Amino acid sequence: MIVIIGAGLAGLSTASFLGRIPHKVFEREAMVGGLCRSHQVDGFTFDQAGHVLHCKSVGIRRFVEKLLGDGLVSHSRHSAIYSKNVLTPYPFQANLHGLPREVVRDCLFGYVAALVKGNSSLDAHFSSFKAWILGNFGEGIAEHFMVPFNEKLWKVPLEELTTEWTALVPRPELEDVINGAFGLANRDFGYNTKFFYPRSGGIQTLPFALLQRIGKVECHKEVVEVSTKSRRVQFADGSTENYEALVSTMPLPELLWRCTDLPKSLREGSKDLRWTSVYTVNLAVARKNISTQHWIYFPEKIFPFYRVGFPMNLSLSMGKKGTSSIAAEISHRPDVQISHGKLIKQTCSGLVRAGICRPDDTFIISEVQDIPYAYVIFDRARGVIVPKLLAELERRGIYSVGRYGRWEHTSMENAIQQGKDLATRLRRTMMAF
Ligand SMILES: Cc1cc2nc3c(=O)[nH]c(=O)nc-3n(C[C@H](O)[C@H](O)[C@H](O)COP(=O)(O)OP(=O)(O)OC[C@H]3O[C@@H](n4cnc5c(N)ncnc54)[C@H](O)[C@@H]3O)c2cc1C
Repeated sequence: MIVIIGAGLAGLSTASFLGRIPHKVFEREAMVGGLCRSHQVDGFTFDQAGHVLHCKSVGIRRFVEKLLGDGLVSHSRHSAIYSKNVLTPYPFQANLHGLPREVVRDCLFGYVAALVKGNSSLDAHFSSFKAWILGNFGEGIAEHFMVPFNEKLWKVPLEELTTEWTALVPRPELEDVINGAFGLANRDFGYNTKFFYPRSGGIQTLPFALLQRIGKVECHKEVVEVSTKSRRVQFADGSTENYEALVSTMPLPELLWRCTDLPKSLREGSKDLRWTSVYTVNLAVARKNISTQHWIYFPEKIFPFYRVGFPMNLSLSMGKKGTSSIAAEISHRPDVQISHGKLIKQTCSGLVRAGICRPDDTFIISEVQDIPYAYVIFDRARGVIVPKLLAELERRGIYSVGRYGRWEHTSMENAIQQGKDLATRLRRTMMAF
C-alpha cells in the first residue's frame, strides 16, 4: 500500500498517475486542493493568492486541457509595476519609459556599467542574490526596483539568498533595455506571458477535476506521527495506517518533526530551513473596472503589499456585476503576526494612495487569509541540508514531493509533473514485487 499525505496538486497527481496500484490519500483539511483551494463569500470567489497556470511541458498542458476541457481559458498577461507614481509594464528592467528621467538615467547608466564590467554572463558565479542583481542589472535597476521589491517579498537581507532560483527573473538584453527606456515595442518576457485560468470556480477547479479522476480522498486526517522503522503513520484521531511507501507533500520541516525515530541530527537540521508567510487581503469594491491589469507589483515601502491581483480580470465569474475584486499579497516572517484589522486598513489606504481605489469607495467585502508556508528561502543552509534530508527519507521509503515537500519554488505545473514522475517510479518498484 502507498500512503499519500496531502491532497494538493502533488498528492492528487501522484494518486491519479498511480492508477490501480493500491494507494490511499489522506488530507488534513476538510477539502482537497492545498494551496490551490478557492473559497466563496457573498457571490465572490477568492483563491488563496494569485494562481494562474503556465505550462512549459506540452504533456502537462495536454493533461490539464483534457481535465478541464472548455473550462480552461487562455490569457495574455497584463501585469505592471507601480513605482514613483507611475504604472509601467512588467518587467521593470525592460520597460523604463514613463518613469522620472533621473530614474531612467540611473537605470540605463547602471545597466551599461554592469555590462562593461562584464560579470553578467550566465556562467558568472555570484556570492549572493544581491551580487547577482548588481552584476546583471546594475545599481540603478537594483535601487529602484530589484532590491526594494525582493526585500519586501523575502523579508531577509538579499546577501543571504543564493541564486539557484533566479531562472524565474527575466533578463533582457541591452537592446531590450534601451527599447524599453524609449517606449519602443519589446518582445514578451517571463515564464507566464500566456497563461490559463479556469472559466469559473477559481483555481480549485483544477484540483477538483483531479479528484474526479482518482475518486476518494480521506479528509480531516492529519498525520501527527510517522514511524519510519515500522512504516506506519498515525493520525490526530488516533487511527493508524501501514505503508510500503509513503508519499509526503506536507512541508519538509513538519514531516521531520513527525518522524520521531529519525536521528536527532537530521531532525535538528530542519531548524535551519527558512521560509516566508503571506497574508492575502481580499476586498470587493462597489465599482466596476477598477483596473485593466491581471496583477500589479509594488516595490515601494510606502505600500504594505508586494503584489495586488484583480481576480475578476481572470474571470468575470469571480464576482458580481458592477463590482471589482482585489487580492493584495503581504509577505511576513512566520513568527510575525499582524492583526487582520490593521492589514485591511493599511491595504485600503495603500490602494487609495496608488489611485486604484477612491476615498469614497464602498468595500463590500474585506477579509484576510494567511498562507503560513508561502515562499521557501533559498539560502546556503538549504542547499546543504535539503538534498541530505531527501536522500535519507527515501532510504526509509519516504518520498517527499511537491512545493514544500522538496522545499523549492515549485509551480502548479511542476507539482503535477512531480506527482506524475514519482508515480511512474513507484509503479515500477511496486510491480517488481
Ligand atoms: C503566494 C503564492 C502564489 C502562487 N502563485 C502561483 C501561480 O500563479 N502559478 C503557479 O503555477 N503556482 C503558483 N504557486 C505555487 C503553487 O501554489 C504550488 O506549486 C502548488 O499548489 C503546490 O502543491 P503541493 O501539492 O506541492 O502543496 P500544497 O498545495 O501545499 O499541498 C499539501 C497538502 O498537504 C496537506 N497537509 C499538510 N500537512 C498535513 C498533515 N500533517 N496531514 C495531512 N495532510 C497535510 C495540506 O493541507 C495540503 O492540502 C503560488 C504559491 C504561492 C505561495
